[in-house]
Amino acid sequence: MVQATTLGYPRIGVQRELKKALESYWKGQSDFAALEKAAADLRASHWKLQKAQGIDAIPSNDFSYYDLVLDQSVLFGAVPARYAAFWDGKAATPDLYFAMARGAQTATCGSGCAHDHGPKKDVIASEMTKWFDTNYHYIVPEFAADQKFALTSDKPVREYLEAKAQGIETRPVLVGPITYLLLGKRADDGDKLALLDALLPVYAELIKKLSAAGAQWIQIDEPFLALDLDDKTRALYQPTFKKLADAAGQTKLFVTTYFDALRENIDTAVNLPVAALHIDLVRGHGQLDAVLAKFPADKILSLGVVNGRNVWRNDLSASFAQIEQAIAKLGKERVWVASSCSLLFSPYDLDIETDLDPTLKSWMAYAKQKLGEIGTLAKAAKDGKAAVAAVFAASDDAQASRKTSKLIHNDAVKKRVAAITKADAQRKSPFGVRKGLQAKALGLPSFPTTTIGSFPQTQDVRAARASFKKGELTEAKYNEFLKQKTAEAVKWQEEIDIDVLVHGEFERNDMVEYFGEQLSGFAFTKNGWVQSYGSRCVKPPVLFGDVARPVPMTVEWSQYAQSLTKRPMKGMLTGPITILQWSFVRDDQPRSTTCRQIALALRDEVNDLEKAGIHVIQIDEPALREGLPLRKADRAEYLDWAVESFRLSASGVADTSQIHTHMCYSEFNDIMPAIAALDADVISIETSRSQMELLEAFSTFKYPNEIGPGVYDIHSPRVPSEAEMVDLLERARANLSDDQIWVNPDCGLKTRAWPETKAALEAMVAAAKAVRATAKKAAA
Ligand code: GLN
Ligand code: ZN
Repeated sequence: MVQATTLGYPRIGVQRELKKALESYWKGQSDFAALEKAAADLRASHWKLQKAQGIDAIPSNDFSYYDLVLDQSVLFGAVPARYAAFWDGKAATPDLYFAMARGAQTATCGSGCAHDHGPKKDVIASEMTKWFDTNYHYIVPEFAADQKFALTSDKPVREYLEAKAQGIETRPVLVGPITYLLLGKRADDGDKLALLDALLPVYAELIKKLSAAGAQWIQIDEPFLALDLDDKTRALYQPTFKKLADAAGQTKLFVTTYFDALRENIDTAVNLPVAALHIDLVRGHGQLDAVLAKFPADKILSLGVVNGRNVWRNDLSASFAQIEQAIAKLGKERVWVASSCSLLFSPYDLDIETDLDPTLKSWMAYAKQKLGEIGTLAKAAKDGKAAVAAVFAASDDAQASRKTSKLIHNDAVKKRVAAITKADAQRKSPFGVRKGLQAKALGLPSFPTTTIGSFPQTQDVRAARASFKKGELTEAKYNEFLKQKTAEAVKWQEEIDIDVLVHGEFERNDMVEYFGEQLSGFAFTKNGWVQSYGSRCVKPPVLFGDVARPVPMTVEWSQYAQSLTKRPMKGMLTGPITILQWSFVRDDQPRSTTCRQIALALRDEVNDLEKAGIHVIQIDEPALREGLPLRKADRAEYLDWAVESFRLSASGVADTSQIHTHMCYSEFNDIMPAIAALDADVISIETSRSQMELLEAFSTFKYPNEIGPGVYDIHSPRVPSEAEMVDLLERARANLSDDQIWVNPDCGLKTRAWPETKAALEAMVAAAKAVRATAKKAAA
């Protein structure tokens, strides 16, 4: 019979209990037993909740203290040599696990102490990177060329038995072997998949243990089946899963794919020797026909119809139509109803959001509500729609009201987007012309110095904001405080002789939230937390409606700061793509349309800044690269509208006004043409950690406009010397022409303290002056 299932559940806890338990354990305020107890309580409550919401097939081993991929690396003994002091090569311990997650340092008592601290344990954390195109980060497995694997614990078996003892039969989840290897990296850059033969016996051993423990199903996640694969990798799937299926015996295997459609991998996926296959019908919308056409008669198809990655209520009728289509072909025995992917990427429980507009709330669903939707859809499939008629009617009403609600729809905004012309996204003159005009208007020296925007958000700044929010500090007093901070920052920048100043962003809590709060179409939640990495959670704004800018957002601050100095003051904005990328975005219109709306709102802001006398304006786009679609075939389209959006926001100003952008990523090579197409007059980029290697990409590409390669790594409290920065600038000069180069840090300074910031920026200005002198001599 039709089953309701999920691919995984968030683990941090509705009140972020896991975060609190972890951080208290890390600080040494509680022991591991207390952490284990908190974790077991969370698992029990999540299993119980899923059951109560009508989920028939519930996953286990989707819980992790830090990250599921790290769990698996530890479980399989894929432990890099630098952690040798933390384990005996056999059994995994919490110390090993958290050393890999976060790095570790043994406390010492200062120089020359006589205590025995045991072997020196000073080790860096493993690398962390984004899980596909989500904002969740996993710990990257590191393999040696001759990597050996061995089971070091029985965590999946333990968690299966733990649920069983509570009367809940679960389906243990494993990251599939091909995906696991592809997610990792090999120290020697060799072929990761060459390790498959060494790895599969460990999977087989684990699967046998789960089977012996009584598991009826095992879930094996292979998201790479929904991505671009080469023929060689595709050909590995069949033999790999044959081995796993042999090990499983009576236990059935359920392979999941998500985040995109199967496309050219469809034959590979549907013909795997397993009992069930999951497809994502949200990200892979439209793939059902193709999958059904090829689906073999002996398998179960799991339909991922409820989006695991957003906060929107499901359109039950639309989902049900797909379920009925599958049942018509496969029969009720062979169809499951599921979330599109794990619910890990949704916040917990909408019920506890007390301050949201009730209409907006009626359009939303968090993980708990999504469980209910899956349960309802499965019930409708089993017992007929009439059994849940009222729930369907409520869903239809919500969809209908979303189509017309004045809360969402703003005709003026829609008209404006529809009327966008090519010319709107085009500066008046080409860069070559603008460059001369700007040089004359701004009168900057060669190798001009600037910073990326924020100055240290010290304790007093955060405290003042908190008391203002609590109503303890009046708005007038708060503004006075911020003005004083800004004035100090301006004065200090003049003193150390920076050329293009910033106001310091003291009034901003977060670079997206600050704008979202002032634009219409955004809402903010109290409890919409999702895990970013480890114990860290983020609470993205909800972008639910047409975006408009009722009044200027930053003009007063920039104008005030400009009034304090004769030097150019740089206006600071967050770009349209970054605002889009770091929000929960409405799903009732294309992302491109939403992005263009944000772009037009920002265009008004840029134009108003210019009118107010701000002639250098920076539009930050650190998230341009991360919005890139997973499939190569989709990238050009994304880059088209992303670039157009940036240009729309930037192109309303005169040639004499200088538009800057800023990005902090290391992977520019594959999007160089798009970065150039932004046509920003100046781009600042993070380079100091890659020792300017990145610049080669800009130089090979012959990047035409101006560039500020970061010379100060702001992620570290370390103060770089003038000589180091001169050296970096000389490397930049080897790749770029002198009149292209700006001098600035890697990124904003808000996480730094003042003493190191001051020392580093003074040295930076000195470095710029030294390089100016050298260049002048060479020219003479
Ligand atoms: N202007 C922002 C700041 O300086 C940029 C932050 C970022 O790139 N993430 O804080
Ligand atoms: Zn940055």
